Amino acid sequence: MRRTVRLSAVTAIAVLLLCSTQDVTAAARRRSGHHQFSQTLEVPADTRLLVIAPHPDDETLGAGGLMARVHEMGGRVNVVYLTDGDGYPEGVQTEGHIESPTSADYRGYGRERRREARNALLTLGLDRASYTFLGFPDGGLSKLMRAYWSERRAAYRSPFTRLDRPPKSEMVVPDTKYRGEDLTQELALVIADFKPTMIAVPRKEDQHADHCAAWFFLADALTDVRRVQPDFSTEVLNYIVHFNSWPFEDEEARLAPPPGLRGGASGWLRFPLTTAETRTKRAALRKYTTQWHVMDWFLDGFARSNEVFSRPASVRVTLPIRRNVCDY
Ligand SMILES: [Zn+2]
Repeated sequence: MRRTVRLSAVTAIAVLLLCSTQDVTAAARRRSGHHQFSQTLEVPADTRLLVIAPHPDDETLGAGGLMARVHEMGGRVNVVYLTDGDGYPEGVQTEGHIESPTSADYRGYGRERRREARNALLTLGLDRASYTFLGFPDGGLSKLMRAYWSERRAAYRSPFTRLDRPPKSEMVVPDTKYRGEDLTQELALVIADFKPTMIAVPRKEDQHADHCAAWFFLADALTDVRRVQPDFSTEVLNYIVHFNSWPFEDEEARLAPPPGLRGGASGWLRFPLTTAETRTKRAALRKYTTQWHVMDWFLDGFARSNEVFSRPASVRVTLPIRRNVCDY
């Protein structure tokens, strides 16, 4: 009995030592970053890239370098902004020096962020880029996947802008309201029209509920497109913006994948940027003045010498969904 106890203690110490060695090794790998990548992402010359951005700035944070490269190689880039980023109280308070913003203040903030997005795309060299603002509710996308899915109940109303539908100028489909099935339908139409060969969309593990929901809506829209066009195929890439304290916890020039998150079906894909591309990406991020005022440290964390992508194991999703999968 005693011997067993002693052996167990020895085993426990050995395991502890092993674990701490592994921790040290993992920390060293995290610091050097590049060991965690299993592949480098290659971009074919005739790529048609569709970037799904939950808010203005996400496209540049996650895929600004990729967008610039696709354009440079003669491909096409299209960005779909799901929301105008107008539901951000701290941002509106900072920008307007207002303690209690009104719905008009929130709408004005959204207009400003749309203007910034257009300038950021121009800075990336995307003079021929097309973009679509869908004007769905910032902070409300995950609710549309569940409770506010169909016509069976009133559309969702943004507590910020007080709107329950996109402005007419932002409707792809007439009579669109803040309902999940309407957002899926608009996205499916954009995909069917643009026919992307590559789509960049946030990962479902992204800890901002709108980002997680963006993944589910994209996957649901692809299901709809394939129902009508069974041989439609496209490469789906995931980018990530919000995951714990990543990426501003280290100051390396290279961007390592988020610690504690696996690289999905493909392993993490490294997309190296040239010095000029990194400079251009940083300049594009600077166009988001409203965001720069509230979280410059966060934006700066993405202006590195590479971007980080992964591929999903499956894109088969059918909405609505019962479970609360996106509210962190
Ligand atoms: Zn975002």
